[in-house]
Amino acid sequence: MVASGDVMTSLMIEQFICRQDNFAVILHDPLSGETASIDAPDGDRIAAHLDLGVWRLTHLLITHHHPDHVAGVPALSQAYSPKVIGPADEADKISDLTGTVSDGDTFEFAGRTVHTISTPGHTAGHVCFYIPDEQLLFAGDTLFALGCGRLFEGSPQDMFTSLNRLAELPDETRVYCGHEYTQSNAKFAVTVDPDNPALADRIKDIAGLREKGLPTLPTTIGFEKRTNPFMRTGNPAIRKQLGMQNASDLEVFTELRRRKDSF
Ligand code: ZN
Ligand code: FE
Repeated sequence: MVASGDVMTSLMIEQFICRQDNFAVILHDPLSGETASIDAPDGDRIAAHLDLGVWRLTHLLITHHHPDHVAGVPALSQAYSPKVIGPADEADKISDLTGTVSDGDTFEFAGRTVHTISTPGHTAGHVCFYIPDEQLLFAGDTLFALGCGRLFEGSPQDMFTSLNRLAELPDETRVYCGHEYTQSNAKFAVTVDPDNPALADRIKDIAGLREKGLPTLPTTIGFEKRTNPFMRTGNPAIRKQLGMQNASDLEVFTELRRRKDSF
């Protein structure tokens, strides 16, 4: 007798751009047929993609309440009646939720345990979804490749703490994000971390991918720790570039976010 966990195959992951620069990310488990969408930027586009694979949406995982992440929730709920799981702290702002999660809560998707990580900053109730079995993180608008989300509802301290929590995940963790912002983030990153060879290499790779119309994601936690200035507030070269050698990490983060906002 084989336990079902022993015959687990990898999840299929498909991402495509919706709207302007939002990513739709779809997970499909060929074994169980369970299928999840991370956020719902465009219900029609996601439904068309699902129907192409003859996939039935069983789960909709919502990171935060912004319209570009929840616009498709009503249509997808109506069409597929999935479980719709979103942040408890934003439950009043998201329609059709069937379940809510807070920091540390777990639930099952396709035989995997999904962990909820509360990451306030971009919005007050933002959550990320982490699947350790697959070394996968869905970061929504908290962490981007070479950047982080704007602070619409949270303080610099909130976002700094949130990013530090994500930085504690294993370096190999693959990270899917809510937007394709990498190229514009890279332009800023190089202004504050100009002598980082890993960043310079990455910028070349990004340009090559974008020229071919390919996504620059997923990234990994380790890759971000080597190249994303918002995760490198302790780095001496960045501190020197900012003239903040003796500042706290939070002060460096706050200055980086301030500069990026007006970049
Ligand atoms: Zn957002
Ligand atoms: Fe967004």
